[in-house]
Amino acid sequence: MEKEMRVRFAPSPTGPFHIGGARSALFNWLLARKNGGKLILRIEDTDRERSTPESEENIKAALKWLGLEWDEGVDAGGEHGPYHQMERLAIYKKYTDQLLAEGKAYYCYCTDEELEAEREALTEAGKMPRYMGKCRNLTPEQAAAFQAEGRKPTVRFRVPAGQTIKFTDLVRGDVSFESDGIGDFVIVKSDGIPTYNYAVVIDDALMEITHVIRAEEHLSNTPRQILLYDALGFDRPKFGHISLILGKDKKKMSKRHGATSVDQYRQMGYLPDGLVNFLALLGWAPSGEQEIFTREELIKAFSMKHVAKNPAVFDVDKLNWINQHYMRKLSPEEFFEAAKPHMIASGYMTGEETGEQVEWLKRVVATAHEQVSYGAQIPEAVSMYFSDEFGFETPEAEAVLHEESVPTVMAALKDKLAAAEVIDGPAMKVIFKSIQKENKLGGKQVFMPIRVALTGNQHGPELVEMFPLLGKERAWQRISNSLSKVGINL
Ligand code: GLU
Repeated sequence: MEKEMRVRFAPSPTGPFHIGGARSALFNWLLARKNGGKLILRIEDTDRERSTPESEENIKAALKWLGLEWDEGVDAGGEHGPYHQMERLAIYKKYTDQLLAEGKAYYCYCTDEELEAEREALTEAGKMPRYMGKCRNLTPEQAAAFQAEGRKPTVRFRVPAGQTIKFTDLVRGDVSFESDGIGDFVIVKSDGIPTYNYAVVIDDALMEITHVIRAEEHLSNTPRQILLYDALGFDRPKFGHISLILGKDKKKMSKRHGATSVDQYRQMGYLPDGLVNFLALLGWAPSGEQEIFTREELIKAFSMKHVAKNPAVFDVDKLNWINQHYMRKLSPEEFFEAAKPHMIASGYMTGEETGEQVEWLKRVVATAHEQVSYGAQIPEAVSMYFSDEFGFETPEAEAVLHEESVPTVMAALKDKLAAAEVIDGPAMKVIFKSIQKENKLGGKQVFMPIRVALTGNQHGPELVEMFPLLGKERAWQRISNSLSKVGINL
């Protein structure tokens, strides 16, 4: 029987949760779900200066929000814990003692200044800067002398000479590195805390991870990790390195390109389903043309075979298009709930409204349902219901009101509005029809000037929706104000 697939997401809680991290988490989640495997969440918190509990909370909340639940790890428990690296120091120590005893690792007493000087000298000589092995073969006396000086040693891994390290990456295919290009690297810092490359190997091995799927930036760490797997007598997992995410200008995605953290997208009112669908397509290209995938469809279709080698491009227009699809699928109640925080933030709602006001707000918000791509666009899409100050959007819009038939159309509208008892949608339809008929005008000759006078714009939501929501007095006031700007006083 094949071994159960065990994958992991192992973030460092050192700042905002980047969409690149979310994509790595998603690919691991999809693999686990597809193969009936397990997703483990491990927190790599060994960077004491930059790790914060807030960042960890933020990552966990974002994963939950995205619906990427994990089976084992922090908060979920499991048999391979603890799942915070800082709680695993005794475990690392055991392996360090083993490597030291076997001569596969050694203490290094070099100071930062000495290392810096070595690096500079190598660079000046046009050589690759790396550790040249000064402390590789210290005698016990030399070590004791350094100790006596009060130097605190690091532990370095003794990189075997002349080895070609080969592996088949699930994304990049066959990859090889020469061990001679890798200097003996630090596995435990002078404060006793392991480095990333060391802790990750022990954790992945002891947590029985079968597939390590992570960002491309870790590809060059993999040969070091493989040397450690071999030295520690652990089986190597399979590795897959997913491509960088680039902005549309083909430069590495950064703040310059807009929002980069999951939380920013959540706050802008993107939907988890939309973001997950979009992130799945960042580097994974299914064989057909399909772009909208439910989670079930993603799980079914996902495979590392279709994860592309070339960089993924973050196209916000595509994200908006995908998210709009999911916005449209919300029920009216869900859409209103999604709109609320944005309506409150823009001052259009307080959240304390009474029943009747809420009913009106629901109807107002509903007019934006088909139009917007994400929540933060809603206030602007309904702003006309909250402010009667507006100008003509374009000279073309204003020109519409200079057409010959406009005074006739508007005079008729004024009379009919005044006479109407109710102005709901059907009543407005009747009014527009009768203006057309009585004056022998085409539909556009009636609708367009009314629309421009009411909104300043030639495009927008249905006229028959707007009148009932504004009420006839307010609607007429808006129209009359626009008309007076072009010299028609009614
Ligand atoms: N803590 C590492 C990071 O956040 C994990 C890399 C890995 O998956 O091995 O980049």
